[in-house]
Amino acid sequence: MNPILSVADYRSDTVTRPTPAMLEAMFHAKVGDDVFEDDPTIHELEEKGASMFGKEAALFCTSGTMTNQIAIKVHTQPGDEVICDKNAHIYSHEGGGIAFNSGASVRLIDGDRGRLNANQVEENINPDNIHNPITRLVALENTVNRGAGSYYDLNEIKKIRQITDSHGLILHLDGARIFNALAETGESPKEYGAVFDSISVCLSKGLGAPVGSLLLGTKAMIKKARRIRKVMGGGWRQAGFLAAAGIYALDHNITRLKEDHIRAEKLHKTISGLSYVDSVFPQDTNIIIFKLKDDINVPDFQQFLKNQNILISPMGKQSVRLVTHLDINDEMIGRTIESLKQFKG
Ligand SMILES: *Cc1c(COP(=O)(O)O)cnc(C)c1O
Repeated sequence: MNPILSVADYRSDTVTRPTPAMLEAMFHAKVGDDVFEDDPTIHELEEKGASMFGKEAALFCTSGTMTNQIAIKVHTQPGDEVICDKNAHIYSHEGGGIAFNSGASVRLIDGDRGRLNANQVEENINPDNIHNPITRLVALENTVNRGAGSYYDLNEIKKIRQITDSHGLILHLDGARIFNALAETGESPKEYGAVFDSISVCLSKGLGAPVGSLLLGTKAMIKKARRIRKVMGGGWRQAGFLAAAGIYALDHNITRLKEDHIRAEKLHKTISGLSYVDSVFPQDTNIIIFKLKDDINVPDFQQFLKNQNILISPMGKQSVRLVTHLDINDEMIGRTIESLKQFKG
């Protein structure tokens, strides 16, 4: 790699490093033992997250996988069925956790770039018949990672809520990037809190914290979640240092997310016009996914960019993903556009 240029790392929005200001906040955190529920900074983060979304309580965990998996475990019994999109992170990117942790059955739906509609949900609810698994939980993802950052129309979610209500089902949101969706729609976290029973929010993605996710729900649900987190080995001690980073992220890094979307739009415009590109997903937020023509060798393309200090990640056959985030600046966008144009295929 070129030692003079900084690395433009588009592999994920999880690669961000804490800024000096965030580190300063972490350095000064008051901490205690969170297994004894003694850490004041964790309490502050949990209360802040819960009140932002209008939920009663929150639980700070190591990862979005953990918050999703705990939620599924709390909401289901073995043999119950979870409805989600076929590309949902909870199904395709959490290591088979639904089976491993909850012993639940999964009903996969072919959504629109990962988004389900109310009819699809209704059609996939099982009748009350001993042959069928008991449909218990509907899980939506917003924004959708493998849908190239697509986001929901809140009206559709409200229709889904009516269906889940009329069938007595629970509605969970994998909101790893919910703030990216809100940055586009202008809706408030409380509007989302009002329609979902539980929400998982990542602090370590676009918000730039080094570690951590929040699970939001009722007090009773979070009490059960705390027990399951402990069973999973996720009870932690002076994690207030990390919670301080999370508080800093919520205070400072939400309003700037739109900048990441604008930068992604610039890249997307260039990529759409490249001769060696077969197809590009529409770009809605901070994720770009595109397919290279069949005669392009993906590792060669990746290496060409790597030689110019640009990192991207492959995403299945012939496809690659670029994600913008707070460590990607305009200078990087400019030279990435130049490098993409230089590649000869
Ligand atoms: C990143 C992500 C998660 C959680 O991932 P962790 O790496 O476990 O924090 C969950 N859902 C979606 C859609 C994600 O993109």
